Amino acid sequence: MGIPVRLHWSFLVVVLYVAWAFSSVSEPIFGRAYGFGAVEPVTLRWAYSFLFAILLFVCVAVHELGHSYVAKSYGIGIKSITLYFFGGVASMEEIPRDPKMELKMALAGPLVSGALGVSAILIYLAVSSDPKHPIPILLWTLGVINLILMVFNLLPAFPMDGGRVLRAWFAIRMPYVVATRRAANIGKMFAIFLGILGLFSFNFILLFIAFFIYIGASEEEKATTIDASLEGIKVKNIMSSNVRTITPDLTLRQLMELMFKEKHRGYPVTNGGGLQGIITLTDLQKIPDSQRDITNVRQVMTTNLFVIEPEEEASTAMKIMSERGVRRLPVLQDGELVGIVSREDLVRAIELCSSRSSF
Ligand SMILES: [Zn+2]
Repeated sequence: MGIPVRLHWSFLVVVLYVAWAFSSVSEPIFGRAYGFGAVEPVTLRWAYSFLFAILLFVCVAVHELGHSYVAKSYGIGIKSITLYFFGGVASMEEIPRDPKMELKMALAGPLVSGALGVSAILIYLAVSSDPKHPIPILLWTLGVINLILMVFNLLPAFPMDGGRVLRAWFAIRMPYVVATRRAANIGKMFAIFLGILGLFSFNFILLFIAFFIYIGASEEEKATTIDASLEGIKVKNIMSSNVRTITPDLTLRQLMELMFKEKHRGYPVTNGGGLQGIITLTDLQKIPDSQRDITNVRQVMTTNLFVIEPEEEASTAMKIMSERGVRRLPVLQDGELVGIVSREDLVRAIELCSSRSSF
């Protein structure tokens, strides 16, 4: 599908962990051997456990491809799929707030896991003449795990797919932000319940999962609230338009004095016409004081710029800033600098407007 699949470093750890876990498990499920603990000799046991761990993550990647396939059919671009210790994440372009579409997208992943599970079990039933042979064990274990993955992912809590299903289901009936808040609250309650369960049963993996679910639910709620409170606000509404610019020939000593006097932390650099770069207090601080008389702005300024247009959404500016790790964006119209928008401008706008979204 033209989607790059990436491996996070934590993936290596979890593959080894999964291989280790399944090399020591050998308990029958529905009377059928599950796990490779009874496979002899040890090298064969490890080889199969390792193969199983790899195949499991192939299944996780295919699960993510399920989401991606539906997303693509709606014209949403997929940047990449990353496999990490908790499974997979598909990184997508902005998803339009269409509950019906989100519902289909969210269900596609668990559906794929279910189909993989059922297929593995069907193949197992077709070939299992010798239930002690590692290949039938591999098929059965893979089948069971995929069905567990399906059920786990359908739990109605963010950040699982079930949380999205629940939100979409609410969103058909009520505003998107309210639907998200409700779904997130259910996710949090569920996480607290799991956490208590984990605490009393001394099950630390359960505690860990509870923590993960709680954080995921809060993050989703926060992201949606911010997006919703910036809805309809354009960059031109919040940018500072009287931008003080400096020329690239200014020395850093002069720049420092200017910063003291005008209390600005950064300046766009222009040379008569177009924008050439941007220089901030952080750039200045990298140069030792003794060098500031003989160094000019041109040598220190950042020239690799991320810019935005005045007609774009404020939430787009927010996204660019957090993705690129910058604090301010020059606003350009037809190549001309017309303003600058900073993180502070966005925070102020969110604070002023967040009351709108709490119906
Ligand atoms: Zn999923």
